[in-house]
Amino acid sequence: MSQEFAMLINGRAVTGDATFDVINPATGEAFAKCPRANAALVDEAVAAAKAAFPAWSAKPIEERAALVGRLADAMEARAQEFAHLLTREQGKPLDQAMYEMMGSIFTLRAFVEMRPETRVLKDDGTNRVIEHRTPLGVVAAITPWNFPVILLMNKLGPALVAGNTMVAKPAPTTPLTTLLFGEICREVLPPGVVNIICDQNDLGPVLTAHPGVAKVAFTGSTATGKKVMQSAAGSVKRVTLELGGNDAAIVLDDIDPVVAAGKVFQGAMTNAGQICVAIKRAYVPESLYEPFCDEIARLAKEAVVDEGTRQGAQVGPVQNRMQFEKVKEILADARQKGRVIAGGEPLNRPGYFIPPTIVRDLPEDARLVREEQFGPVLPVLKYKDIDEVIARANDSEYGLAGTVWGRDVARATDVAMRIDSGTVWVNQHLAIDANIPFRGSKQSGMGAELGQEGLHEYTQAHIVNAVPLQG
Ligand code: NAD
Repeated sequence: MSQEFAMLINGRAVTGDATFDVINPATGEAFAKCPRANAALVDEAVAAAKAAFPAWSAKPIEERAALVGRLADAMEARAQEFAHLLTREQGKPLDQAMYEMMGSIFTLRAFVEMRPETRVLKDDGTNRVIEHRTPLGVVAAITPWNFPVILLMNKLGPALVAGNTMVAKPAPTTPLTTLLFGEICREVLPPGVVNIICDQNDLGPVLTAHPGVAKVAFTGSTATGKKVMQSAAGSVKRVTLELGGNDAAIVLDDIDPVVAAGKVFQGAMTNAGQICVAIKRAYVPESLYEPFCDEIARLAKEAVVDEGTRQGAQVGPVQNRMQFEKVKEILADARQKGRVIAGGEPLNRPGYFIPPTIVRDLPEDARLVREEQFGPVLPVLKYKDIDEVIARANDSEYGLAGTVWGRDVARATDVAMRIDSGTVWVNQHLAIDANIPFRGSKQSGMGAELGQEGLHEYTQAHIVNAVPLQG
């Protein structure tokens, strides 16, 4: 436990009065201490962000964007160090950690190029109406443990370019990469523009209710998202909520089941299934059901499950003990109601390892079908016709994303058009791009992240309506 980590408040490294252990999910052992904030430090962080706001928002946008670009450059220079720390705290295989780092850098650079739009809504020679966009103030960014780096960059890039300042709070089980990023902020940004505090799941409500915070940008579970919305209501804060999902993959009958099984396997098991948009239910036509199940079970049995630092590891551990227990519970229910054809038991070794698990012949009301499992366990369900499968895919309180797989792209696109979710990918998965807005429907979220729309979420539209003076 040699490396020291500090929070960031007003440009200062702050260690606070308390610490907590950060566990490596591949071993179940603590490997670092994280400084822990309290409500007084939250106040200091918000005050620092508020004090930094006038000068930061008054800076020309080109200068702000250039500083965000420097954050990306500094991150790139330390990408290996970030990726190793990410694997240690999060558990994902090193190549996937590096992929998250590259995505983070790409996202920041995409926002370096983006500008809030100014529109002339009317100009008839006498009446000129302009809509331009102003920053909001202090943004609280609250992030989960599955993609701790990129989910922060999705918020920080647009927030800073648009002229806001920030207080960021990572998830308590993956705080260290955010603190490492804080070191970069300390070198590159004026004091107070970005502040970082850490908690043990106790300070989120303090931040979301704080009168000094103008907007809450939250990614996490739907249950917590509801609390965030309630708490933000006190001062009518802006909120963006990126919440849970239970995404369906619909395999059409014109595809080779072996090809489809490979794609679905990848979409379900990357990051040990801990992706908001992971494939969480696979619907396969009767005619392809047997060969599809055989192939996906084969892939699951062959996958290399190991510590993320081991060369060749494809699936790492579940990120934390609580999630590990939850996945085991959902799996126990699935075992009773369906047939496990690959995996099914946690590995007999330290850490939170569950091997890729495939369950077939489940009824639609099994927990594994209805709930968000958020782990490497996939139900494969049989369907008869298209209308029926679309109805089943849409029968969920979630509506984050989904996929459709078929040779005939036009037909697959028609099916995709009928899925009630924020995004549907056809013959691809996880095609998230900083230039394309991403949002959830139903209880999967509110507001957009990424793209021009994602940038506008960090602004207030301001109308100026002018006519010549009469009389
Ligand atoms: P979580 O909701 O438990 O925690 C998320 C964050 O909220 C953490 O930083 C946590 O400390 C904080 N928090 C906890 N209680 C709070 C409160 N009352 N007020 C404010 N903040 C509070 O989620 P998790 O378990 O860390 O992450 C997994 C969930 O995140 C899954 O449901 C997943 O689908 C979702 N997710 C969604 C997206 C998306 O873009 N839609 C992306 C990634 C993850």
